[in-house]
Amino acid sequence: MKCRICGNDQLNLFYVEGYNDKFKYYKCSQCRLVNLDLDYASNLENQKQFADNFKPHRNHENDRGSYNTVEFFSKYVPVSGNYMDIGCGDGGVLYFARKKGWDVKGLELSPVFADFVKEALNIDVDVADFLTYNSQNTYNLVSLRHVLEHLPDSILALTKISGMLKDGGYAYFEFPNINSLTHWFHRIRNRIPPLKRKYDPSFATSHCNMFSRKSFEYLLQKTGFRLVRWETYSSKPVSNFIYNHLHIGTKARAVVQKIAR
Ligand SMILES: [Zn+2]
Repeated sequence: MKCRICGNDQLNLFYVEGYNDKFKYYKCSQCRLVNLDLDYASNLENQKQFADNFKPHRNHENDRGSYNTVEFFSKYVPVSGNYMDIGCGDGGVLYFARKKGWDVKGLELSPVFADFVKEALNIDVDVADFLTYNSQNTYNLVSLRHVLEHLPDSILALTKISGMLKDGGYAYFEFPNINSLTHWFHRIRNRIPPLKRKYDPSFATSHCNMFSRKSFEYLLQKTGFRLVRWETYSSKPVSNFIYNHLHIGTKARAVVQKIAR
């Protein structure tokens, strides 16, 4: 097996999970990406379940998660203009971004969500998979939230986003932080037989590429971006305050800028 970002074949088993240790994750000694061995187990089954179970917010104003996302990227993106949210779901982030003055548009795999956003918010949404989407426009800001970790080809994902951005444009990402305290506990626990979590045979994972700040920066450098801001965060205010300063939270968020060529 080779690392899916840098192609290096020096990978070390990092952790296992699932029934009979079905899901095996290997850490690259060069770029530090943690790669799920996809020859052995696929992550696709679980993704479909997630899409089917997602429920739209009825009142966007109460969606604190989306509000916090927009407050965060507004601090680090020094331009305005047009903004596309890839995987816009029920449109919560687009709702708050429009309030900040962005000219917004969504992209969604699900026609049900796309119709919901058009009806409830009067925001235009294209229905497509962004990896094969031909954008008619270029944007000042594009976001990809909780998607990158599910895609085997991270380089393709960043290249597509780069193609959707104006030169010097910004992108915003959210994904799990493999260097979090929670993940560290989980790995330690799974190495100690009496404490090891018992998995049901139906347990599935949806994550295949797991990033730390270091591996994410490697990906950025390889695809023509620079890191503007990295931090970890939480929906709980006290943990959020700690994680914004000490980057050990379970979830990471980053603002990056496309380097003008
Ligand atoms: Zn690598």
